[in-house]
Amino acid sequence: MARELYSLTIHELSALLLARTVSAVEALESVISRIEAVDGRVHAYISPTFDFARSQAQAADQRIARGDGGPLTGVPLAIKDILCTEGIRTTCGSRILENFVPPYDATVIGKLKAGGAVFTGKTSMDEFAMGSSNETAYFGAVHNPWDLDRVPGGSSGGSAAAVAADECIAALGTDTGGSIRQPASLCGVVGLKPTYGRVSRFGLIAFASSLDQIGPITKDVEDAAILLSCISGHDSKDSTSIKRHAPDYTRALKKDVNGLRLGIPKEYFIEGLDPQVEKAVREAIDLLKAQGAEIVPVSLPHTEYAVAVYYLIAPAEACSNLARYDGVKYGYRCSQPGNLREMYEQSRSEGFGPEVKRRIMLGTYALSAGYYDAYYKKASQVRTLIRRDFMEAFKTCDLIVTPTAPAPAFKLGEKLSDPLSMYLSDIFTIPTNLAGLPGISLPCGFSEGGLPIGLQIIGNLFAEEQVLHCAYCYEQSTPWHRRKPSLA
Ligand code: GLN
Repeated sequence: MARELYSLTIHELSALLLARTVSAVEALESVISRIEAVDGRVHAYISPTFDFARSQAQAADQRIARGDGGPLTGVPLAIKDILCTEGIRTTCGSRILENFVPPYDATVIGKLKAGGAVFTGKTSMDEFAMGSSNETAYFGAVHNPWDLDRVPGGSSGGSAAAVAADECIAALGTDTGGSIRQPASLCGVVGLKPTYGRVSRFGLIAFASSLDQIGPITKDVEDAAILLSCISGHDSKDSTSIKRHAPDYTRALKKDVNGLRLGIPKEYFIEGLDPQVEKAVREAIDLLKAQGAEIVPVSLPHTEYAVAVYYLIAPAEACSNLARYDGVKYGYRCSQPGNLREMYEQSRSEGFGPEVKRRIMLGTYALSAGYYDAYYKKASQVRTLIRRDFMEAFKTCDLIVTPTAPAPAFKLGEKLSDPLSMYLSDIFTIPTNLAGLPGISLPCGFSEGGLPIGLQIIGNLFAEEQVLHCAYCYEQSTPWHRRKPSLA
């Protein structure tokens, strides 16, 4: 049976588009029909942009006819609603930006447009990317396509669910403490967080500026390489973007890990790790070993402090980044305030949800006079120790292999009243952000209940090519990435 166009990967669809076997308009209509069939149950999209996408698809077809198409020309992509899109509402999952229409494009959006990609819409997310379940989204929860009673992970839950449910060919997400990799793991797709500075953050609505990175969420590793090649590179509009050549990452994909040294950190195989996750990850490591990789035990001794450090640094940066939402220039403004101060207070009280308020309070406290040294400064020092742990480990190994999340997708509502247990879902992803390193999550098995399990591969700074190479090798010898949720 011929596969539906919506179910294809970027590289599969692109081959058909460039050979003019199918048109971009046909591909888009296939994806739109899929969204219409399943999004009423998944709720991955906040703002579909079908009319805009149709005009992009027509332009893509003309471009291909001129012989000017590239690997993303005519490919329908979904965009996390934290990335500014000119003329298209960008909410960041928050009431405070419910009606915000940016006057400019994020750099990554401009790059995708230049590549001829087609945007199916803006995807749901935890409010201001604060969350691990997509339940803090002002516009409603997203449902995991593998089990609609479960969360898709967060904060890029809409993008991961859209990719898993074939409601787009691929998507962009952002990752501050795991928000690309954790939902990718819970939804059985591939998610890559690049090295800090690899991808421009210009036009990304800031959460925690020393941690945020944009990256691809895709159906397979090759697609992650294609998308990353398009979006990475230096940008003078983001002073933290690195002046460094961005290679064609698809060249790094090899089906051979012979001699690659894989570090296995004992601190990531701890009590509380779901036994089915541990089993799947250990089997993945065994497979890579059988393929010629060398397995090296390593230690990352400060891992246990990472979540605490993150929940001081990220809220501290967030409280200052979110100070700009005051009801004055743009965003939500309360009605009929008595005076200026009331206008600020009410606009922010009504515009932000409870998790965002919790983070603003945490961050304000951590930065306040008298507490700064004890909290923010101390956290920054421990962050350095965490980074050093990785640098030590990379003296004896090339890559580090771990589980992505401690357990498969949990039930909607299960952790909502327990923020600490929610925060612990990122225990294996947060250290990578604190150290600025690249990391990928890819499917490595399923639980007995049929829920996806993710394998994380972490690289040294700017070692995306090695990360992709190892991930590709594993993926090509396993069946997991080809499984689809039924959504019947
Ligand atoms: N879940 C983490 C948090 O709530 C990470 C979110 C993210 O990476 N944006 O902060």
